[in-house]
Amino acid sequence: MSWAVFAVLGLILGSFFNVCIHRIPRRQSIVAPPSHCPNCRKRIAFYDNIPVLSWLLLRGRCRHCRRPISPRYLLVELLTGVLFVAAWARFGPTWELLRALLLISLLVVLALIDLEHLIIPFRLSIPGLVLALGTALLPGLDPLDALWGALAGGCFVLAAWLLWRYVLAGLFRKMGVDQKEGMGGGDLPFAAMIGGFLGLGRVAVALFAAVLLGVAVGLALRWAGRTGRGQEIPFGPFLAAGALVGLFAGREILAWYLRFLLGS
Ligand SMILES: [Zn+2]
Repeated sequence: MSWAVFAVLGLILGSFFNVCIHRIPRRQSIVAPPSHCPNCRKRIAFYDNIPVLSWLLLRGRCRHCRRPISPRYLLVELLTGVLFVAAWARFGPTWELLRALLLISLLVVLALIDLEHLIIPFRLSIPGLVLALGTALLPGLDPLDALWGALAGGCFVLAAWLLWRYVLAGLFRKMGVDQKEGMGGGDLPFAAMIGGFLGLGRVAVALFAAVLLGVAVGLALRWAGRTGRGQEIPFGPFLAAGALVGLFAGREILAWYLRFLLGS
């Protein structure tokens, strides 16, 4: 039964994260006014605001003006619910579970803001970084590892940006490819925050997975003709996906890689 508690908690928080994703980049308060339809401004009653169920019952439309409500609302709630259950299954009743739930929450909100607005707000990523380092002081955890992880995350983005700015951009231009840089200033504290939560070993896995995913999806979109010249693809969602790989499988992947490297 315990997993059901985390499923419901995830669905309810996912519903709240939808509000955050919509309002934080627009610099609106996340508590007031209460949920309303962005089209007809009518207030959404509590029975129309039940995670997943309401969206399905209303068939993804506002009850009053019938304007479609993005399936993003449904997907964010489901995703948060699934990830919360997975975290409970992976970590059980530990301090690590608390940190996993915090990280998942920040990843969902920041990745979706970046996807829509191409920004990762500092006023979420910086408190997230402080939270990552602060909660590493809880009993049985390794605060020094969190600090190294945060440094590694930040340095990686800085190094990637310098590499792009001074080496790759020029090469691409010579090859006639006009590709805008995929990483923005917001990625630096975001990667540092992820590193703070995951620690040095797991953030290495997370960053590697993020780059692999980014290159694969970037090439696939280009091949499918979905991206024009110089179109910007945000890197934040790939960092977030990589962070989930690091969170759930980082230790196993690292152990496997080290065994492989040592040839035993
Ligand atoms: Zn409406």
